[in-house]
Amino acid sequence: MPKILVVGSINVDLIYRVPYIITPGETLHSTSCHIGMGGKGANQAVTAAQLQAEVYFVGAVGEDHYGDYALQNLRDRNVKTPFIKQEGATGQAIIQVTDQGENAIILVPGANYHITAQQLDEVCDCIKTADILLLQLEVPLAIIEQATKLATAAGTKIMLNPAPAQPLSDALLQQVTILTPNETELALLTGVKAQDDKGLKEACQLLLAKGVQGVVVTLGSRGVFYYTNKRNGYVAAKKVPVKDTTGAGDAFNGALAVALSKGQSLEDAISYANEIAAYVVTQSGAQPDLAIHLTCN
Ligand code: ADP
Repeated sequence: MPKILVVGSINVDLIYRVPYIITPGETLHSTSCHIGMGGKGANQAVTAAQLQAEVYFVGAVGEDHYGDYALQNLRDRNVKTPFIKQEGATGQAIIQVTDQGENAIILVPGANYHITAQQLDEVCDCIKTADILLLQLEVPLAIIEQATKLATAAGTKIMLNPAPAQPLSDALLQQVTILTPNETELALLTGVKAQDDKGLKEACQLLLAKGVQGVVVTLGSRGVFYYTNKRNGYVAAKKVPVKDTTGAGDAFNGALAVALSKGQSLEDAISYANEIAAYVVTQSGAQPDLAIHLTCN
């Protein structure tokens, strides 16, 4: 069984349907609301665990009902939670969505910013034995840097989904085995607006020059462009009826980590991750049930 360690965020998504995005000073009626489980770290961990990887999580939720709820959700989805602490208030994404598909989001990092270096020291053995350390950027950068150092020292592969977009140091990038930006994140990291084949190659070459071993750029419904020293190319997305693209990138990352941990080639792993992400866009929410895929893969 592949073993994946995720260091990342856990949020509750509070989703309010509204006729339009609220304007300053206004009070607006929501037509419906619901709570979903979210956080990029949690979404990716849940995907990987559903695809039958052994998944450990380092993170933090609040000492509140949302925290209990989020922890129970991870346990129910087979994510191993002994390295998650409860402190402060659970991270929240407060999301307004209109019928036209517009959204506006307030992100409350809460407990996600309470993860400590000491928590990472406690998982040293787990980092050593993991096939992949899977990271995103919704927790403090100092934690990402520390986790990366520990994985590098242990010889464990590092997959970094650089989302939400923010600048990263060369010292961090040079330790990354696989970087998985979307187009916005790629542009921010490289300063290149990669709108065509030439631009994508130029941006990826810049990242390889900084020491990243492989770049996998997600292109939404167009699929993926990948680039390594040996090979590069596109893997098309599956054509599906789209219901909700929330969590597509997270499902892609979770599935890619599983396939690479199993030793699949980069191209095969991307095809598999495209398939899982395409299924996720046909479903609602960021952590849909993937049971249907266990029989075919
Ligand atoms: P993010 O949500 O992080 O910006 P993308 O939008 O690039 O990520 O989507 C990630 C992956 O999800 C894509 O590479 C693709 O595999 C899949 N995907 C996203 N949108 C669609 C779609 N409309 N149809 C099929 N697959 C999709």
